Amino acid sequence: MDEARSLYIDFEREAEFACPHCGTANKVYDTEKKLWRHLDFWNWKTYFHARAPRTDCTNCNIVTLVPIQWARLQFHFTLLFGAWAMRLMAERPFNAAARELREHDTRMWRIFHYYVNQAMAELNLTQVTWIAVNETLSRCGHRYITLFVDVNTKIVLFATA
Ligand SMILES: [Zn+2]
Repeated sequence: MDEARSLYIDFEREAEFACPHCGTANKVYDTEKKLWRHLDFWNWKTYFHARAPRTDCTNCNIVTLVPIQWARLQFHFTLLFGAWAMRLMAERPFNAAARELREHDTRMWRIFHYYVNQAMAELNLTQVTWIAVNETLSRCGHRYITLFVDVNTKIVLFATA
């Protein structure tokens, strides 16, 4: 098994957090223990452990997990780890990137889909007037990849194998 290191982060006892819906400052209602993989320190896998606070908003009466700055609550990696993983996946095949990060490729795919879906959601297609479709062999030469590109902006709108 890989060597790993853990960093523990916590908030102060009387801390208040802004409700994500209305911004009202509230005391902590309860917490959920969370774990995120972060960038390696001295080549050790490194994990952040923290209690993610939930607030019971006095204004809107909704119990909500408070968003944190270094990660998305539904994922087990920090934003910096996600950026590192995406950079490696752009440079080399998935399994080579997974080997370098010492992660299972299912987790790599989860990271990949998260960022691609986020980018697709932000894509504004209302100005697209002319699409080019091109079929090309993948780098390994065994499969064809079909690309749909906006001719004006050169942005890849969709790719499928
Ligand atoms: Zn609120």
